[in-house]
Amino acid sequence: MFLEHITPGVDLGWIEVVTGSMFSGKTEELLRRLRRACFAHQKVMLFKPRIDTRYSATNVVSHDSNELSAMAIDEAYKILDLSADAQVIGIDEAQFFDVSLIDVCRNLASSGKRVVVAGLDMDFRGEPFGPMPQLLAIAEFVDKVHAICVKCGRPAQYSHRLTKSSDLVLLGETDRYEPLCRHCFDGLTDNRNR
Ligand code: ZN
Repeated sequence: MFLEHITPGVDLGWIEVVTGSMFSGKTEELLRRLRRACFAHQKVMLFKPRIDTRYSATNVVSHDSNELSAMAIDEAYKILDLSADAQVIGIDEAQFFDVSLIDVCRNLASSGKRVVVAGLDMDFRGEPFGPMPQLLAIAEFVDKVHAICVKCGRPAQYSHRLTKSSDLVLLGETDRYEPLCRHCFDGLTDNRNR
């Protein structure tokens, strides 16, 4: 389990990335980290891309009297202005931001902030998703979490889409996806190519 590497009194920022397939618990892990920071009276802000409509704009993380609303934004650069006072910045569904998120995270960390990013590492085709590969590369800490393959029970890293849409962004219906391991994902792909 991830534990913070903090030197008391030293204001150094860093980047953490939590990644994996759908149903792997990425957001839960992001929220766990933010809740702990809230509990320590650190100023925490949570952002998500406006494109993600699965959560309401008033999505709330709470612990006792600490409440945290996820702010839905259109462009990654807005995080810089909006989070000026924050010590800890969470970014959920990061794969839907464009590559400018990479510099945004760099700037935040360089200015002394803790940045916790959660996002899908691969799209439904098994291809690297949006800015995630670069974020994984520049982060100090990376955790890849896994779902459980619905076909065989192995650790799953693919978000297999059950519908035929080829749209990269297909949201709101988690029942349109299933987590698969490499073996089972490859088996489906092979069948389709025949
Ligand atoms: Zn499997």
